[in-house]
Amino acid sequence: MKQQFIDLHCHSTASDGTLSPTEVVALATRNGLSALALTDHDTIAGLGEAADAAGNAGIDFLPGIEISCDVPRPATMHLLGYGVDPHSPILHDLTRRLIEARDDRNPRIIRKLNELGVAITMEEVEAEAGGDVVGRPHMAAILHRKGYVSSIKQAFDKYLGQGAAAYFDKERLTPTQAIEMVRRSGGLPVLAHPVQLRTENDAQLDRILKDLVDHGLVGVEVIHSDHDAALVQKYSTLADRYGLLKTGGSDFHGTNKKDINLGTAHGRRIPRDFYDALVERLSRERAVPA
Ligand code: AMP
Ligand code: ZN
Ligand code: FE
Ligand code: FE
Repeated sequence: MKQQFIDLHCHSTASDGTLSPTEVVALATRNGLSALALTDHDTIAGLGEAADAAGNAGIDFLPGIEISCDVPRPATMHLLGYGVDPHSPILHDLTRRLIEARDDRNPRIIRKLNELGVAITMEEVEAEAGGDVVGRPHMAAILHRKGYVSSIKQAFDKYLGQGAAAYFDKERLTPTQAIEMVRRSGGLPVLAHPVQLRTENDAQLDRILKDLVDHGLVGVEVIHSDHDAALVQKYSTLADRYGLLKTGGSDFHGTNKKDINLGTAHGRRIPRDFYDALVERLSRERAVPA
């Protein structure tokens, strides 16, 4: 019988995690998981390596991606795409655009940090990233190492987070565009960590969700490291009301988010059923020509 637990949300060195795709899969094995989705920000560069490692380890693997959407502050909206085709030209174009948007933003952050008296260069940040997706967690790691801040969190609070001294926005897709891109790449669009929408009341959350569903959303991440028991319950009820799939993941980033372990989200493990339902839905959609 398959092990009961899985993880559908994690990051590798291909984006801002600190473990390579192979190391993430090895940790999944150690943590007793039977299935894994790798969901790096803006890139599919880690998917091939992770799929191979998962094949060798005998773990089921689902290719994924996480895309940040353009929504009014203070909200953040991230869209997960599950089962995207790594060979899709649409996906290749998309990831290139998303990485260009980062490359446009990042030097502005560095310039501002320099103005604020912080000694950091783009070359250091690129070396820290080690791949195409260069982001704020890499900068935060350097600020921490050099002693400008006492934690990654403080790096965001003081310098890098929304509204902080060296914050700059990057160009992003609208939620509708992100949903379309995931669908056109053969994937299933799922709303990540709805708590980060920072909605003021249930009616607002309902409106946002309904709009996303009208545009093709198929699932909601109900279990996540930012969701306590009450939120898991709340998002599960909403998912059921809208006929959405339920997903869950830790949002593991290695030592860039030290308190998160792969396979556990706010003390909760993620049931195998979530993976099986996603795969079942993917095979059903693929049986129907677009
Ligand atoms: P970027 O993709 O470069 O814009 O950076 C976004 C990443 O920074 C995401 O992985 C977030 O989890 C992380 N992040 C955003 N805000 C914070 C925060 N306050 N503390 C720690 N990590 C954060
Ligand atoms: Zn991340
Ligand atoms: Fe996210
Ligand atoms: Fe994430």
